[in-house]
Amino acid sequence: MSEPSASPPAARPAVLVVSKLPAFYLEPLQQHFTVYERLHETDPAAFARVAPGIRAITGGGESKVAAALMDQLPALTMISIMGVGYDGVDVAAAMARGVPVTHTPDVLNDEVADLAIGLMLSLARRIPQADRYVRANAWAEKGPMPLARKMSGARLGIVGLGRIGKAVAVRAQAFGMSIAYTGRHQQEQLAFDYHPTPKALAAAVDFLVVITPGGAATRHLIDREVLAALGARGFLINVARGSVVDEEALVEALQQGVIAGAGLDVFENEPQVPAALRALDNVVLTPHMASATHETRQAMADLALNNLRAHFAGERLLSPVPECR
Ligand code: NDP
Repeated sequence: MSEPSASPPAARPAVLVVSKLPAFYLEPLQQHFTVYERLHETDPAAFARVAPGIRAITGGGESKVAAALMDQLPALTMISIMGVGYDGVDVAAAMARGVPVTHTPDVLNDEVADLAIGLMLSLARRIPQADRYVRANAWAEKGPMPLARKMSGARLGIVGLGRIGKAVAVRAQAFGMSIAYTGRHQQEQLAFDYHPTPKALAAAVDFLVVITPGGAATRHLIDREVLAALGARGFLINVARGSVVDEEALVEALQQGVIAGAGLDVFENEPQVPAALRALDNVVLTPHMASATHETRQAMADLALNNLRAHFAGERLLSPVPECR
């Protein structure tokens, strides 16, 4: 009598990766899934052969997942984004197909808030400029730098007092700053001053930190008028999405002294940063790195993977986007 044959191992679900992933996400992903890394971009013919079997999409916060891509994936059942922002995903198209979308909220709040504070301090105290000053031996040749501005005790306005905005507020309170905010809703339980528009908020503060989601609803929320209201002593910090600020208006405002300076982690056409912006001395520019530490990116990768694993185990998703809850 022959031995009863072991049941064949269950096939690993096929996942399409739509952006460059770090090894600490890609490797565990490959242990649990059959992974096609950006095959739709690198080899369309091979992609067409495997597309009917692809059951999930994953990628970083900058991922673009359009309805046209979903159209090519009839077996698609889930989209897992490794990032809290998911403005590149056509969520309405996913929902129309019954495909849930997940993201990675909360695990990056500290990191993004830390960078916002870092940009504020860098602007007020001109730390990057001071570093360049010493390196160029200007201290020895020209003497001390001109005086800077004090951040402690200044007035902070937060555009988008959500998870990250609140983490910025906690830090700013330790600097003795007063805090005001704007958003579509007043949060009655909070003691901070609410302003119904970004313009009204900008007129009342020294530092304006932008930390809303991106996408059509917030496109150019920070426009020429808001910048004029912020005024010649005001600093703008954008750690949200490049689309939220009218970049052309911002460059003009910086060139003409309409505002004092800007700290920017995000740009309208990343990774392209306009030469006119790069040429300015009253800006501090970082390459969309607010969540980019080993610790936080690992936590984001773990959550993105665990959402996929929960989905294919038939368990509740850990962090669906609000539209899919
Ligand atoms: P939350 O959803 O917790 O908070 C978003 C806030 O924005 C809410 O307070 C909301 O308030 C407000 N908001 C939403 N839509 C509008 C609108 N149309 N006008 C004015 N305010 C609005 O998100 P998180 O704090 O977790 O993240 C915020 C964003 O930060 C992400 O979506 C992402 O784009 C960006 N981000 C950037 C990173 C980077 O690397 N630079 C890293 C991580 C996040 P209300 O509902 O009252 O309007």
